[in-house]
Amino acid sequence: MQIIDSPQHTQHDPPYEILDGERVPYFEVPRRAAIIAGALADAGFPAPIPPRAFGLAPLLAVHKEEYVEYLERAHGRWVAAGLSPDGVMPCTLPLGGMAGRSSAPTAEAGRYCFDLSAPIGAGTYAAARCAADAALTGADLLLGGERAAYALCRPPGHHAMPALAGGYCYLNNAAIAAHHLAAAAQTSDMAPASVAVLDIDYHHGNGTQTIFYERSDVFFASIHADPNREYPYFLGFADERGAGPGEGYNLNIPLEAGVSDVRYLAALEQALEAITAYSPRYLVISAGLDTFAADPLGDFALSAAAYPAIGSRIAQLGMPTLFVQEGGYAVDDLGRNLVGLLQGFESL
Ligand SMILES: [Zn+2]
Repeated sequence: MQIIDSPQHTQHDPPYEILDGERVPYFEVPRRAAIIAGALADAGFPAPIPPRAFGLAPLLAVHKEEYVEYLERAHGRWVAAGLSPDGVMPCTLPLGGMAGRSSAPTAEAGRYCFDLSAPIGAGTYAAARCAADAALTGADLLLGGERAAYALCRPPGHHAMPALAGGYCYLNNAAIAAHHLAAAAQTSDMAPASVAVLDIDYHHGNGTQTIFYERSDVFFASIHADPNREYPYFLGFADERGAGPGEGYNLNIPLEAGVSDVRYLAALEQALEAITAYSPRYLVISAGLDTFAADPLGDFALSAAAYPAIGSRIAQLGMPTLFVQEGGYAVDDLGRNLVGLLQGFESL
């Protein structure tokens, strides 16, 4: 399995976030990726290849152009206005009928994000572009005939909406790769064009769901903490099934606290049955590891043994599969759990 990784992500290192009303050290730290890269090397995976630069077009297929332009200029404009170089963060959001017309840097920060956990620092845009390129490079490997690839994306992507950052996410790496795969398949002679995204992060992939909600060429399935108790709260309910042409192509499986390995694997079975029925040509896994029992942001109870089992079961689908790194904040356990997931996949 080819690994795609780049040191570019270290440029993105916000000092803090606002979580549940408190200022806390940023959970999504560069060391996460370093631990994973080290564990992959120790486990004998091939040396990583760098991402190829794909340009803006694949990003603009899922994100609004004005939003991507904002991400690029936001920090420079913010600092030029005399605001803290630590990172762009809003204090006002244009909600509930408040007009979004102000061009002030602080107003822009509110217009293009939905929470207080996605500050934009000097290197954030470059790191996010590199993460998207890593996912696209992995997608191209599948298009070239590879069975599987793993993109060590940082910052992660699945919370990023078409024109909103949030939840440590700026560009939706998995959605960008999934659209790229679907578009490539559509132009080939080997139709049908279809891609499934399976999101196994502890949190609902609200961005990916929104991006594909009215599309039938990308099926989205997510297993996650019930939004009645957990972030991102406002999406991820079981009755969100897609809309218009996308009706029936969105599957949410919200779960209770304390989920065990057995319980999780049963939910996975339900998601994989739906994906099998859809019969996609390509599978993209939003690979979050915050389902682990020791994760500081989650309340599931998965053991390390769950990850090889999940990987093995995904491999049984027999589909070309791209793993895209999402969350996971039990930093010291991330390497072992990610290696377990990929080795479980490769064991089949
Ligand atoms: Zn997560």
